[in-house]
Amino acid sequence: MNQFQYVRPTKQQAAIDAVAKDATATFIAGGTNLVDLMKRGVMTPQKLVDINRLPLTRIDADPGKLRIGALALNSTVADDKQVRARQPLLALALNAGASAQLRNMATVGGNMLQRTRCSYFYDTTMPCNKREPGTGCGALEGINRMHAIFGFSDKCIAVHPSDMSVALVALDATVQVSGPKGNRSIPFAELHRLPGDMPQKDTTLEPGELITAVDVPDGPFTKHVHYQKVRERASYAFALLSVAAALDIDGNNNIKAARLAMGGVAHKPWRLTAAEQALVGKPATEESFRQAATIAMQGAKAFKHNAYKLKLGPNTIIQALKTAASVA
Ligand SMILES: Cc1cc2nc3c(=O)[nH]c(=O)nc-3n(C[C@H](O)[C@H](O)[C@H](O)COP(=O)(O)OP(=O)(O)OC[C@H]3O[C@@H](n4cnc5c(N)ncnc54)[C@H](O)[C@@H]3O)c2cc1C
Ligand code: SF4
Repeated sequence: MNQFQYVRPTKQQAAIDAVAKDATATFIAGGTNLVDLMKRGVMTPQKLVDINRLPLTRIDADPGKLRIGALALNSTVADDKQVRARQPLLALALNAGASAQLRNMATVGGNMLQRTRCSYFYDTTMPCNKREPGTGCGALEGINRMHAIFGFSDKCIAVHPSDMSVALVALDATVQVSGPKGNRSIPFAELHRLPGDMPQKDTTLEPGELITAVDVPDGPFTKHVHYQKVRERASYAFALLSVAAALDIDGNNNIKAARLAMGGVAHKPWRLTAAEQALVGKPATEESFRQAATIAMQGAKAFKHNAYKLKLGPNTIIQALKTAASVA
């Protein structure tokens, strides 16, 4: 590992200044992703700004929303009574991620900002436009079975790996950010970027901007929810593909509202708004779920090794919706 400076500010502004004024500095929270990347030489910050002394661990149950601090641990959030009662989909997605040990270290802010798991990104002997812009994309003509089927570019076909983020985009969450120019709110759907010509830039955050919290608004999705994750073994593996599904179903089994998002298919958590709209007013039946899945997959395009996602995608959507509908 390269040598680096390490600071532990206790004031938020000092942490922001330390990163904003030094292009070689970066925040560290749980370190479960960043330290791995540093060990492999993929990221080489010269200064680590440890934010663990900042008071950002609270989960506030406000009227109309939950405000979850950026330093709340993944395990704490998943086990929180208010989260389980008001946003059970978020708890399910968190518990589907990583292992119990990792969830005890990983933070909410770090989870949403973790880097892609594309193996070429981690292998510094291979070309990768995300790690080193202009070097090419090893995955385009290489082994691309984990890669995107939506929203990719000829510069990068990587997928975003966070399970939690798939639930947050479905739930219309908002990210609270503090930076050198002050505070701002970012709708969760606008936090992550598609790769375009700049795959090195994962998010719309500006240099020095610190995520302080995520707000999850109350909705009718407290009963009929499911997070379906398909992976190569039963635990401790990233998603090949995942679906977050939430339904509001009336007494006649008709769908009043729906939320649907996919993971493992794009450079960002992939919200399926056209499929959601198609579900509203329909009976909560397998036929309705099939129609929504067909709509959701429109525009999907596979590479040499990930054509299985074109079939796995609709099947997982249908399964997630069926399970959500049957959960009382
Ligand atoms: C073996 C293994 C399996 C895993 N499996 C899964 C899985 O199945 N699903 C899943 O979702 N995840 C999985 N993970 C990833 C894990 O969830 C992430 O590593 C973790 O959530 C990152 O959180 P952290 O607090 O440790 O972030 P860190 O490693 O500390 O930071 C990650 C990035 O976020 C930035 N950052 C952190 N906090 C902030 C903030 N508040 N504001 C601005 N920038 C910030 C850092 O600068 C860094 O760039 C796995 C990890 C491992 C090692
Ligand atoms: S898909 Fe993206 S992250 Fe993977 S090698 Fe290509 S440019 Fe790098």
